[in-house]
Amino acid sequence: MEKKSLKDLFRPEIRAIKAYEVPDAHGMIKLDAMENPYSMPMALVKEWLGVLRDVSLNRYPDANQTWLRKELKQHLKLVDGLDVLFGNGSDELIQILMLALNRPGAVVMAPEPSFVMYKMAATFTQMQYVGVPLTEDFDIDADAFIDAINTHQPALIFLAYPNNPTANTFSREAVNRILSEAPGVVVVDEAYAAYAKDSYLDALTPHTHFMVMRTFSKTGLAGLRLGYLVGKSESIAELNKVRMPYNINSLTQASVHFALQHNELFKEQAQRIRRERERVMGILKQITEIDLYPSEANFILIKPKFKASSLIYSKLKAQNILVKDLGESHPALYNCLRITIGKLEENEHLIAALRDVL
Ligand SMILES: *Cc1c(COP(=O)(O)O)cnc(C)c1O
Repeated sequence: MEKKSLKDLFRPEIRAIKAYEVPDAHGMIKLDAMENPYSMPMALVKEWLGVLRDVSLNRYPDANQTWLRKELKQHLKLVDGLDVLFGNGSDELIQILMLALNRPGAVVMAPEPSFVMYKMAATFTQMQYVGVPLTEDFDIDADAFIDAINTHQPALIFLAYPNNPTANTFSREAVNRILSEAPGVVVVDEAYAAYAKDSYLDALTPHTHFMVMRTFSKTGLAGLRLGYLVGKSESIAELNKVRMPYNINSLTQASVHFALQHNELFKEQAQRIRRERERVMGILKQITEIDLYPSEANFILIKPKFKASSLIYSKLKAQNILVKDLGESHPALYNCLRITIGKLEENEHLIAALRDVL
């Protein structure tokens, strides 16, 4: 048999996209990926290593994540009838949702610009993606969104609250309308809940149709890869069938168990980052060469008025500061840069470098 060419083997829509790009950050002040800049204190690291010592690496992980599920449900004070599903990062949960809800012609909908993985996962799973433009101040246009819902009858909607990369939360009125009028599953993606003033977790009941998704990534444990989805038990049970049995490795399960016991530390770090965000924004507000957008996350969005974002990106990079240039990513983000809040001294470097290049 003659072998097919790669072109005839790989789907055209896969060949058409670029792999998710992660720049080399070695030796850089890393302000590009919304990580928590603080690590655990040394005494705690020692304790954590003690926990890892007891993990049996020769055995498969707990496939049902029994302990961790029980612990997280207690931690979140979930009522009976609500359950959680763990993913290898919330990225995996996005994919699981799509695999479980996809049928021929099924639509996934999200505001735009928003988290790029919604669209990417839709491409992978061959779900039809519909983006609904945000308003000029990055809020949901409720009437337009409801119109789009009526037209496309989406099986799945993602609302990032706060939104990445715009950093704001949407008006609750708009979100509430979507929650009540959507015919399918709505996932409120609260990756940045620790940095926001409110949440939809408390609004979940065993009777609500929507779900809340969170992650440990943006609050100090990005390396572990653990996200979770909270929703009514019946829905979680269906999604659980699509999950690969051993998707959460033993080291992650043991480490998150440990982290939940030391939750105060991570809460304190998030508080510090919030305060630091307010301080940094206070300073940036004084710089007239940029527009600064509101933030309820651990990152900010700025738009230089007179210089190209690509130029600012490369000049910051030359000073060992890595941020995210969104200038070409979406028309609504024209000339915008996304900057993660780092440690005080890192932010001071950033501000000085910014003043310099502007
Ligand atoms: C970072 C991010 C995620 C993905 O988080 P992981 O758990 O690291 O996969 C999901 N949603 C939004 C909006 C994010 O910004």
